[in-house]
Amino acid sequence: MDKLIYLDNAATTKTAPEVVEAMLPYFTENFGNPSSVYGFAAKNKEAVSVQRERVAEILGAQAKEIYFTAGGSEADNWALKAVAESYASKGNHIITTKIEHHAILHTAEYLERKGFEVTYLDVDENGIVKLQELKKAIRPTTILISVMFANNEIGTLQPIKEIGEIAREHGILFHTDAVQAFGQIPISVDDCHIDMLSASGHKLNGPKGIGFLYIRSGVKIRSFIHGGAQERKRRAGTENVPGIIGLGTAAVRAVKTMEARAGKETELRDHLIRRVLEEIPYTKLNGHPKKRLPNNANFSFRFVEGESLLIMLDMKGICASSGSACTSGSLDPSHVLLAIGLPHETAHGSLRLTLGEETTREDIDYTVDCLKGIVKNLREMSPLYEDFLKKETACKSESRI
Ligand SMILES: *Cc1c(COP(=O)(O)O)cnc(C)c1O
Repeated sequence: MDKLIYLDNAATTKTAPEVVEAMLPYFTENFGNPSSVYGFAAKNKEAVSVQRERVAEILGAQAKEIYFTAGGSEADNWALKAVAESYASKGNHIITTKIEHHAILHTAEYLERKGFEVTYLDVDENGIVKLQELKKAIRPTTILISVMFANNEIGTLQPIKEIGEIAREHGILFHTDAVQAFGQIPISVDDCHIDMLSASGHKLNGPKGIGFLYIRSGVKIRSFIHGGAQERKRRAGTENVPGIIGLGTAAVRAVKTMEARAGKETELRDHLIRRVLEEIPYTKLNGHPKKRLPNNANFSFRFVEGESLLIMLDMKGICASSGSACTSGSLDPSHVLLAIGLPHETAHGSLRLTLGEETTREDIDYTVDCLKGIVKNLREMSPLYEDFLKKETACKSESRI
């Protein structure tokens, strides 16, 4: 089997060849430490600040508000832990949602163990935060609202601007995990009243192990890694120069191709959704039908185990995911699917397909064709499906009487 259809771009993406090319000299000829005084290495300081400016410009931010990190998880940890500590004298309450990435949820749980109080907001059946609930959750002691821009499992986009406005009105800091959204949809930190934003290189055809946290100037936030004076003394450690070059190059590239890519992916996504819902019975689309990432489709197939589905798809050369990669290996159904109200059984039979810039219509058609056969075969082996069919026929013959 040499065919490989990669439909797991929410887990990670292929680093674009131009991005690799831009990075390469910084492993070899330009290996100098940006903190060194001599010109040969100091050039790298300049190279890093160029990337910082490019990233800032995309968000409508200032270069000095961008802090490079080792990825999205670190940025999320930093935002929550540092705000909690820096604003502890103001209050101890944090608001987030039930559908965040584990980098947020597990950090929030850690803070709870340290004495902070956390409200995890419910979402509606499409995965959208209810603004009324958010307003009700606000207390005089609330110091931070953290709501993700776009969900990594079901692709749902949140009303970020409205959330930002609510936070601003109440004088509460607003952080958003934009790891899935940055480079995919336009973001302006000022329009949305965002005070902090996390992003990651490897979700936008950049390298792994590099990301950033945007921190609006004026936000009091302690350093995350103590040591040298890098990242304005807030995140010590010799800069990951090749990674930073890769992240900046990938971000500029993603913005340049954004409109065309989103158009193409939306069309393919909708074609995929239409075919799956029409051709495979007892199937449901998870997440909002329209307010979702251009590249995300998430389905639940009744009477099917998500893990079995993945193995069978893998045998056909198709890479997909059931729920989020972090939860695979454990038998717990995805916390996101449970939060949108799916019963455990239905949540177990879920499949996430996330398109990328190289996905073609042929890939989608091949995938749906395989999926039809696989779901049919798996159902034929399912005792639950057998019971269901028996009941169905019983009902039908009863209604005929
Ligand atoms: C991938 C992802 C992260 C983690 O980013 P890493 O760079 O892999 O640490 C955080 N949040 C969301 C929404 C993600 O999709």
